[in-house]
Amino acid sequence: MRLRSGVAIDLGTVNTLVYVAGRGIVIEEPSAIAISRVTGEVVAIGAAADALSGKEPNDVEVIHPLRDGVIADLDATVAMLQAFLRQARVRRRIGKTLAVICLPVEATYIERRSVAAAAEALKPRCAVQLIDEPVAAAAGAGYELSAGSGAFIVDIGGGTTEVAVLAGGHVVRGRSLRLGGNVMDDAIVRAVRQEHGLLIGRNAARNLKMTLGLADGSITEAETVGVDAARRTPRVERISAKLVAAAIEPTVLAITGEVQEMLSDIPPNLAEEVVRGKIRIAGGGALLPGLAYRIEAAADIAVMVVDDPLRCVIRGAARILEVGRVPVRRPGA
Ligand code: ADP
Ligand code: MG
Repeated sequence: MRLRSGVAIDLGTVNTLVYVAGRGIVIEEPSAIAISRVTGEVVAIGAAADALSGKEPNDVEVIHPLRDGVIADLDATVAMLQAFLRQARVRRRIGKTLAVICLPVEATYIERRSVAAAAEALKPRCAVQLIDEPVAAAAGAGYELSAGSGAFIVDIGGGTTEVAVLAGGHVVRGRSLRLGGNVMDDAIVRAVRQEHGLLIGRNAARNLKMTLGLADGSITEAETVGVDAARRTPRVERISAKLVAAAIEPTVLAITGEVQEMLSDIPPNLAEEVVRGKIRIAGGGALLPGLAYRIEAAADIAVMVVDDPLRCVIRGAARILEVGRVPVRRPGA
C-alpha cells in the first residue's frame, strides 16, 4: 500500500501536536504564543510561551488562541501554527502539502472556516482536510474503522469534551461539550480562594487536580503555593482531596450525564459492538484519577483508558493521513 505524505495536526485547546508522515510526532507543545507588546513580533511559542502565562510580564502578551475550544484569535492561531510548522521543518514539496486537521464534531461552520483559513494561510501551502476529532480518536484508540463496526469514544481535552458513537469512520451521534480540564482548573482556583483565602495560579490548580483527582482515599491532601488574599504575600497551604473533588464534581457530572444520554439513544444494531468494544476514554482528562471508574459506574458498561491518551488523536489522525480511508469533511459541510 502506498502511504500518503503530508502533516497531521491535532490543534487542541491546551496542546498542539504535529505529525509528519514518515517522521512521526515532531511537535508536542502547549497551544500558546507570546507576542511582544512593543514590536508585535512572536517572542515564544509552545512551552516557552506557556511558561510566561499568568506571570504578567510587562512587555509580552501570552495568548492561548483556542482556550475554550473555539478559535478565539485567528491571527494568533495562524502565527502559532506557522511557527510550529517552521519548527517541524515541513519541507516544501511540488504542489501543496496535505494537512489533515482534527476539529470538534460540533464545531460551527464559522469555526471550520477559520481553521481551514488558518491552515490555508500557512507556508508551505497546504491542501486542508478537516476530520472529526472523535473519528481520529477512535482510530488512535485502536478501533478498526474500515470494518464499519461500532465504537464509543470520550475525548476529554482542556476546553472541550467530545462524546461520540461511531460506525466505522462515521459519526453516528456526536456531542462537543465546551468543558474539560480548564473548567476543572478554574473551579479549583475558586474553591481554594473561598476555603483558604489563597490565590493560586492555573498551573498550581492543575497540579492539585492531577495529584488528587476524584479522591479515592489513597492521597488525602497535597501542598500548594499561592498568594494570601488579605496580606498579599506568598504562602504554602495543604489542600484536602475532598475540596478538589468537590470542585471538579460538576464537570464530572456533565461528562457522565452526556455519556448516559448518548447510551440511551444508541441504535440497537450498534449496542452489542459498543458493549463488547467498551467505552474508550482519551485526551488528557482521561488521566484524571478516578474518572474512568465514575464513567463506568454511570454507563454500567466497561470503560478503558486508551494507551497514551494525550497522543490518541494525533495517532489516529496520522493513520488517517497515511492510509486515507476515512470520510473527510469539507470546510463548509
Ligand atoms: P486538548 O486536546 O484540548 O488540547 P489534551 O487532550 O491535550 O487537551 O488534554 C489537556 C488537558 O488534560 C488539560 O486540561 C490537562 O490539565 C489535563 N490533564 C493532563 N494530564 C492530566 C492528569 N494526569 N490528570 C488530570 N488531567 C490531566
Ligand atoms: Mg484534544
